[in-house]
Amino acid sequence: MGCNAEIVIRNIRAFVTAPAGINLVVVKVETSEPELFGYGCATFTWRHKAVVTAVEEYLNPLFQGRNVHNIEEIWQSMMGSSYWRNGPVLNNAMSGVDEALWDIKGKLARMPLYQLLGGKCREGIAVYRHADGDSWGEVSKCIHRYLEEGYRYIRCHMGLYGGNQGNRQPIVKPENAPAGAYYSPRLYMRSVVDLLDRVRAEFGWDLEVMHDVHERLSPVDALALAKEVEPFRLFFLEDSLRPDQGEYLKYLRQQTSVPLAIGELFTHPLEWRTIIQNQWVDFIRVHLSDIGGITPAIRLAHFADAYQVRTAWHGPGDLSPIGMAAQMHLDLSLPNFGIQEFSGFTEAEREVFPGCPEVRNGYAYLNDAPGIGTDFDEKAARKYPAVDSMDFSWLFSRLPDGTPVRP
Ligand code: MG
Repeated sequence: MGCNAEIVIRNIRAFVTAPAGINLVVVKVETSEPELFGYGCATFTWRHKAVVTAVEEYLNPLFQGRNVHNIEEIWQSMMGSSYWRNGPVLNNAMSGVDEALWDIKGKLARMPLYQLLGGKCREGIAVYRHADGDSWGEVSKCIHRYLEEGYRYIRCHMGLYGGNQGNRQPIVKPENAPAGAYYSPRLYMRSVVDLLDRVRAEFGWDLEVMHDVHERLSPVDALALAKEVEPFRLFFLEDSLRPDQGEYLKYLRQQTSVPLAIGELFTHPLEWRTIIQNQWVDFIRVHLSDIGGITPAIRLAHFADAYQVRTAWHGPGDLSPIGMAAQMHLDLSLPNFGIQEFSGFTEAEREVFPGCPEVRNGYAYLNDAPGIGTDFDEKAARKYPAVDSMDFSWLFSRLPDGTPVRP
């Protein structure tokens, strides 16, 4: 079939599967060619049913019959089709379709997606892993294990976000304190300095180290922490501020030389435009499906490149291997690739998503199959149905007096 032949969307479906106990949303775009279809990631794990509804009850009837070649035109139309726009549910739904259309385009061209994006700019994709534990002994063991596996970039935490989940640190709560993931910002700040001190003492200065504040601090405390961790020469300090406090990055930039990364919660271009144009950040960390897929990510990456801002796409466990592979095609081809977060794949995920990226000696590699190249075994996926018992507890963060804060 020629690349100008009229091939149209015949049906758009959404699947939910949880091979690692985390609900993943996969979108399939079927076409007028019986053997031609594509898969995309639409994983918004905490509201996955809303995404499935947006895909199957809105995008499917609205976009049947559209020419699959016209990805940009379809993306723009999807964005306008709900009138209100730029929210995580609808962006994820759009991402599922957008990534599936890029998958289809690669299959039609008989090329892996990175070839359509300009070809390889590097041979391997450097990735970082997460080291954590309830004690320094556990964290240290975790870092040793990753070093033995060949990783050279490691995000270091102790006690997860806020540094003291599980009430490891002595937090005094009021009477009748509700359940939640309590943390004390000041205890947390001191614990980070202590942790990084131990990391450098035991592992030296060749290890590239990150830390994720996860928006747990007030702006002025984030500034103080950035200055305190400056001597540890981080690869980057992540999400030091909430998305709505982005302009305060100006003060961090003026007063510290700590490389700054932000963006996994961004869903709207206004959240990144000013901070990139002013070079207040060094790494942009959006979650591809939360901004609407590959099409807007290409635009964002090229915009960031003009300001020497590098990419560090969000790569948590609540991202399907299709979504991970999609962003790795960008990683392979973009001049301003910085680093890729990687959470590993379980055996069950490899079974459901054949052909997913492989990591050897700290570098990720894609296969050269056409399109995104990570497949979806619909039969295997049914063995791992959606779970209703996902743990939401860490999302109920609280200050010591019980005040709810955003995680
Ligand atoms: Mg993060």
